[in-house]
Amino acid sequence: MQQHDTHTLRQDDSRHHLHPFTDTKALGSGSRIITGADGIYIHDSEGNRILDGMAGLWCVNLGYGRRELVEAAAAQMTELPYYNNFFKTAHPPAIKLAKKLTELAPGHINHVFFTGSGSESNDTVVRMVRRYWQLKGQPQKTVIIGRRNGYHGSTLAGASLGGMAPMHEQGGPMLPDVAHIAQPYWFGEGREMSPQEFGLLAAQSLEQKIKELGVERVAAFIAEPVQGAGGVIIPPDSYWPEIQRICDHYGILLVADEVICGFGRLGQWFGSQHFNIKPDLMPIAKGLSSGYLPIGGVLVGDRVAEVLIEQGGEFYHGFTYSGHPACAAVALRNLELMEEEGILERVRELTGPYFAKQWATLADHPLVGEVRSLGLLGALELVADKTTLARFEPGIGAQCRDNCFATGIVMRSVGETMVVSPPLVITEAQIDELVRLARQSLDLTARQLG
Ligand code: PLP
Repeated sequence: MQQHDTHTLRQDDSRHHLHPFTDTKALGSGSRIITGADGIYIHDSEGNRILDGMAGLWCVNLGYGRRELVEAAAAQMTELPYYNNFFKTAHPPAIKLAKKLTELAPGHINHVFFTGSGSESNDTVVRMVRRYWQLKGQPQKTVIIGRRNGYHGSTLAGASLGGMAPMHEQGGPMLPDVAHIAQPYWFGEGREMSPQEFGLLAAQSLEQKIKELGVERVAAFIAEPVQGAGGVIIPPDSYWPEIQRICDHYGILLVADEVICGFGRLGQWFGSQHFNIKPDLMPIAKGLSSGYLPIGGVLVGDRVAEVLIEQGGEFYHGFTYSGHPACAAVALRNLELMEEEGILERVRELTGPYFAKQWATLADHPLVGEVRSLGLLGALELVADKTTLARFEPGIGAQCRDNCFATGIVMRSVGETMVVSPPLVITEAQIDELVRLARQSLDLTARQLG
């Protein structure tokens, strides 16, 4: 194994490396340096083995150390390391992956446009949606409605579609013609009514917004089936059917951002299938390649594809790495392995229900006001008072996240919400370990709070 000089690495890191979503000045004693990984564990430069409760950034679905994926990349890089798919060229990995994805997708989806990431996928969504309505003879339909606290990436279009207030506040205007509606966050915003009533109300804010803006201007609605980065916000059952009804009624496009929920996270190929909705566009990334190489795409339903293809001519849009051969080969192998290993059934029938049961045992902890999970996504709401459910001042979530690292588990904090999204290959015994480590981290936080 390679030896690492932690001190030098940390020094060079804080001197030269501007990290994503990090306060460089506040790095303090420096970054935790991750040097290796196996299965559901990561290793740091100081020899710690840590259970990765976040599957990297919600993406390492098949876990670390998969030789099959490494071999798929090596074989493709040996044969054809790069070629593009522009100007009437293509290569076997991109073609095979396109075919495979459309076989796995619901019947009305038969095309895919490849990108390099989730953010690029959502930029592509904006351009495709606008082009679709232009070709339909309604070029004034340019407004896309997203949700407050939704996350769709960090490019200008991704950040604009997303509803993360701190991102919008940094550095001038976002993309024009984007509006936001309420999120279906019952614990945070709707506890004075039943979850079902609240879910319906949150969905109906889409209808209000369409009326307010004028349907002649509204092009599409975009949302994650379950909000991930916003804090694993699982909508009440009443939510998605009402959203689907409203999109159908007003004829606007429905975009389901499957970047986290796709590829088995909810026990189906796509989160939309769990919620029984029929999106026109589905941006994908992350679990598509289990994060081994960067690749994303937009799955395009027939309603949009037919117009783009039949009437659109050349679409002036694409990325150098759209459908990159090595990334596509790894993604294809990843999907095959998911099938061979029955990952969807496993999450749906075994580990998802087991995780739900074990995760729910944390409800008795003095710091926990609500526990929720769906598939292999979980959240804990930290509260200062278990009876009144009063929230903590900001900062306790980040403190708990740091305690998780010290305890030997990666959990993410979203404000005062702790979230997990472990690799989909996690076993029942490892779920027990995850829940035990989560409890220890909560205990440590409670002790620090006195
Ligand atoms: N969409 C969703 C739902 C995401 O969670 C993310 C990333 O977390 C993105 C888009 C952006 O993906 P990327 O970071 O690959 O650009």
